[in-house]
Amino acid sequence: MAHKTDIEIARAATKRPIREIGAKLGIPEADLLPYGHDKAKVGADFIAGLKDRPNGKLILVTAINPTPAGEGKTTTTVGLGDGLARIGKTSAICIREASLGPCFGMKGGAAGGGYAQVVPMEDMNLHFTGDFHAITSAHNLLSAMIDNHIYWGNALGIDQRRVTWRRVMDMNDRALRDIVCSLGGVANGFPRQTGFDITVASEVMAILCLATDIHDLQRRLGDIIVGYTSDRSPVHARDLKADGAMTVLLKDALQPNLVQTLENTPAFVHGGPFANIAHGCNSVMATTTALKLADYVVTEAGFGADLGAEKFMNIKCRKAGLAPAAVVIVATVRALKMNGGVAKADLGAENVAAVTAGCANLGRHIENVKSFGVPAVVAINHFAGDTEAEIAAVQEYVAHQGSEAILCRHWADGSAGIEALAHRVVALAEADHHGFAPLYPDEMSLFHKIETIANRIYRAGEVIADKKIRDQLHAWEQEGYGDLPICMAKTQYSFTTDPNVRGAPEGHSVPVREVRLAAGAGFVVAICGEIMTMPGLPSKPAAETIGLNDMGQIEGLF
Ligand code: ADP
Ligand code: MG
Repeated sequence: MAHKTDIEIARAATKRPIREIGAKLGIPEADLLPYGHDKAKVGADFIAGLKDRPNGKLILVTAINPTPAGEGKTTTTVGLGDGLARIGKTSAICIREASLGPCFGMKGGAAGGGYAQVVPMEDMNLHFTGDFHAITSAHNLLSAMIDNHIYWGNALGIDQRRVTWRRVMDMNDRALRDIVCSLGGVANGFPRQTGFDITVASEVMAILCLATDIHDLQRRLGDIIVGYTSDRSPVHARDLKADGAMTVLLKDALQPNLVQTLENTPAFVHGGPFANIAHGCNSVMATTTALKLADYVVTEAGFGADLGAEKFMNIKCRKAGLAPAAVVIVATVRALKMNGGVAKADLGAENVAAVTAGCANLGRHIENVKSFGVPAVVAINHFAGDTEAEIAAVQEYVAHQGSEAILCRHWADGSAGIEALAHRVVALAEADHHGFAPLYPDEMSLFHKIETIANRIYRAGEVIADKKIRDQLHAWEQEGYGDLPICMAKTQYSFTTDPNVRGAPEGHSVPVREVRLAAGAGFVVAICGEIMTMPGLPSKPAAETIGLNDMGQIEGLF
């Protein structure tokens, strides 16, 4: 039987009007700000009025170190949300918005897949409710105000060579990575070297996703460091008086977007920070709102658990006062085989020994998740080619680790395929462990925080950093930034900084190449390896095959 594509399945969805989806969560129609018939933002006053309500249970979906195709975290987040609804719970899911740029590069959307998708998926993967446009505008307003300030006399004494704030756009465009701006003579200002990042890499995106309300948003925007004076004192967005206008541009974007799954489960799709130089999960506003309205909220953290879950716990949960009740670790037979040494081209053949060898990677993630004091369960996201013997090997391995691996067929069967996982998640969450704690205290020194993550999560033997980097961290501690959490930026394919080292290595070195202060977002980024903040398009971009068909429908997007 030929499988339907994701977009064909999504098109055939029986969507309910968005007010009915809101009603499932008790949101009055007047508090929904509709964007068409199937999308809405949730009003600020309504959200403010929820603050004294109790929270539902927060379930995090994360994964083992993935294959380049992704392991199905979003698909499983959507499936589990539907599965919980199927067994009678009020549930909602929270995921990130998609970046426009990558949609025109490689195939693959951000709305889940198969019979576990969020709709309208075309909108979600394109302009959606305009949040990314607002973030782009707010970011570039600040950029414009910096160059304008320098042009009109530079009263703050900004050193043009030390402007760190770049420009952003939501497109993969390598031509803009490094540019010289203000060319063309006296009337155009002072030429300087700068560049563009993709919008999801903007600190404004990270800020929007961590802000707890509009006032917190403005405070964080004001705290952004845009560059330094010639005596190296920081210049803030507040010094340029940009924070007020930026907040105005972001006022609507801060409100969470409500859509639905194929099975009409409420889905909050809001914010989309990079998972490398930022923390990689949807907005705090969406998660905290969903927790006030649903018994169960299922959310996703980008990348494998060594990065995504670690940052979810140490950055988002710490800052927003959240605690996950249970963690689902998504594993696929394919990715376990790759972690067991099988090449991508050979993934089609049964290989129980490689699956078992690759399980070491899964075992490491289970241990790590449990070290945060949170119960873990494994979801085996079933792919058509998986064999019974391979699946049994995973289940046996995980049972030995004192956990359970549950086979899930939500991609093929929707909520009916994930009931067993839903029941298990409820059992774990209702057991109320209350043991969650971040990995390190705020007071620990910045370098020691990096070492703690490297030792405890990556099982590295040492962290290597030049004196220059250590001195920089000390300087930030002196300036009052010592209590910030660390945002690790490294490859998602390995516990090490080398994407080719799979499985469960130990004793390796983690070299820190660079550190950056995101003073508005409130974290220190430790860059370990090559990090691309403006992607390019591949030699045959998906854009070449995207277009409208005779019925006016989008073809080629997925
Ligand atoms: P992640 O969130 O981990 O990056 P996604 O859930 O977005 O992964 O899935 C990545 C891709 O894999 C999507 O195109 C999705 O349709 C596909 N996919 C997910 N699960 C399955 C499955 N069980 N069988 C086939 N394809 C799948
Ligand atoms: Mg995803």
